[in-house]
Amino acid sequence: MTDVPADDQGGDPACWMHRVCGECGRLADEDPPTRCPSCGAQLEVD
Ligand SMILES: [Zn+2]
Repeated sequence: MTDVPADDQGGDPACWMHRVCGECGRLADEDPPTRCPSCGAQLEVD
């Protein structure tokens, strides 16, 4: 295995800001491009 940091899921808010739905503000379950699980809005890679 390669030396991958175990704390890659750290608490930096910037790492998930791109997942926040622009329509309803919900956090998507996965990285874009995907759809908001709440309102169905398309989340694009910005
Ligand atoms: Zn939404």
